[in-house]
Amino acid sequence: MKVRSTRNHESSSAFTAGSRYLGRFAPSPTGPLHAGSLVAALASWLDARAHGGQWLVRMEDVDAPRTVAGADQLILQQLAACGLQADAPPVWQSQRDTLYQAALEQLIARGLAYACTCSRKEIEHALAAQGHTRERHAELVYPGTCRSADPALQVSKPHTWRLRTDLPLTPGAQAQSVTTTDAVPKAAFAWVDRRLGPQYQDVTHAVGDFVLQRADDCFSYQLAVVVDDAAQGVTHVVRGQDLADNTARQIWLQRCLGLPTPHYLHTPLVLGPDGAKLSKQNGAQALDLTDPLRALNAAAAVLGWPAQTASVPEALTTWTAMVVELGRSPVAP
Ligand SMILES: [Zn+2]
Repeated sequence: MKVRSTRNHESSSAFTAGSRYLGRFAPSPTGPLHAGSLVAALASWLDARAHGGQWLVRMEDVDAPRTVAGADQLILQQLAACGLQADAPPVWQSQRDTLYQAALEQLIARGLAYACTCSRKEIEHALAAQGHTRERHAELVYPGTCRSADPALQVSKPHTWRLRTDLPLTPGAQAQSVTTTDAVPKAAFAWVDRRLGPQYQDVTHAVGDFVLQRADDCFSYQLAVVVDDAAQGVTHVVRGQDLADNTARQIWLQRCLGLPTPHYLHTPLVLGPDGAKLSKQNGAQALDLTDPLRALNAAAAVLGWPAQTASVPEALTTWTAMVVELGRSPVAP
């Protein structure tokens, strides 16, 4: 991810006792949990418990074509076996389209979202014409081709909806409740990650106007996450470092929608024998549920906490006490 240190960052005020804490674990049900996803689950659970807060589970199945039938129930069984109980019933993003649609319509009404009819090939050609060849995560930096196209004509053709990242949020376009340290919020800004420290991204140039809804009507991960975190009142996001690169896009979207920005902490990744990130995509093994304490000990080791030998509940209690004692970060100092 494109980051640089800066002293001119917004303050990420430390959590103080008595403040409300609401955390969440939000797996994509594309397969069962593996050793890497359990690290994020354990870290977010420990962080919530150590802050005396609440912890939720949300199934991020907004990308219907990638969702695997039954994986959600398997994940819930795995979490239960590991003693990671949520404080409320889980929610499924696939049942929350109404919320995402309302957010999209709000952005369209403010002139912050527009219909894009570009194919991947057209985007590549436009970038080449501008002298760019850069790709990032195989995702092209969208050059803004359709920003000024006729909306009526655009929506009559297959189209995605994209969020403008080139505009400062002028008072007219800006939601009433937007609060920021910038006089005029724009899509290049700094923030503080609780583990990674000061971060910076210029979304306009690193990503470009990004997709809110795809041509197949699936809402994007970015839109769903931002809408859900706000709708559920999430104050603290603790998730794997593989998702850190999405943070700037999500903060920009929060600002465009006038939503609060949670505190972010990205956990260390579990690497496979080849040094690549362990993921469902590269064939990571599902957690072995015959010995949940062993699976939890492996996850705790990645976070820097010592192995426990008693029982799953006792191990979780011990680690929670350690997190509280050593500064309320789920990653050991
Ligand atoms: Zn376009």
